[in-house]
Amino acid sequence: MKKEKGLLIVLSGPAGVGKGTVCGALRRENTSIQYSVSATTRAPRDGEVNGVNYFFKTREQFETMIANDQLLEWAEYVGNYYGTPIDYVRETINNGQDIILEIEVQGALKVRERFPEGIFIFLMPPSLAELRNRIVGRGTETEDVIDKRMTVARDEIEMMKRYDYVVENDQVHLAVERIKAIVTAEHCKRERLIEKYKELVEVK
Ligand code: 5GP
Repeated sequence: MKKEKGLLIVLSGPAGVGKGTVCGALRRENTSIQYSVSATTRAPRDGEVNGVNYFFKTREQFETMIANDQLLEWAEYVGNYYGTPIDYVRETINNGQDIILEIEVQGALKVRERFPEGIFIFLMPPSLAELRNRIVGRGTETEDVIDKRMTVARDEIEMMKRYDYVVENDQVHLAVERIKAIVTAEHCKRERLIEKYKELVEVK
């Protein structure tokens, strides 16, 4: 029987909405979902580990990855490159395991072009004021970067229309539950199961 492919799940949304926090909480629950580690040219923040949070690269190294077609998508975001290494994503879904990509909206649109069968989830902030609080609260950015990120965020919220699901991040544990429910429902879709139950459906 043909092995069912894993799901490619894209979690995106505006800057500061809490994609990283929600993804981290989901990861700690030890579900069977795998996580894609992105490459970036931005400097590591305190506590970030190469190969766990990101693969930290120079601009030159990143541009070589682009030239060699090693990235499923990439985007330039607030002065740095971010991209998804393609090999791990391919191997994981071909092995029948689900994988989640936590990426910003330009990259998510590019993934949609290459993997239209992906599941696109938009993480929504409860309000713009709350979004700004979260960006300021993180305390890792200068005023200038915060303003830039808020401008980008307003345009990014518009992108909600291009997604399959919208999950409000009012509370992290609730957002995590909603994402798990989406993944469960996607696995129950008829078109994914038709092959598995073929014999049963044929015997009338
Ligand atoms: P941060 O610098 O706060 O870790 O990430 C900045 C933004 O880049 C976040 O919105 C994050 O989701 C996004 N990002 C992280 N990895 C990738 C990636 O591989 N591709 C794209 N397009 N965006 C990413």
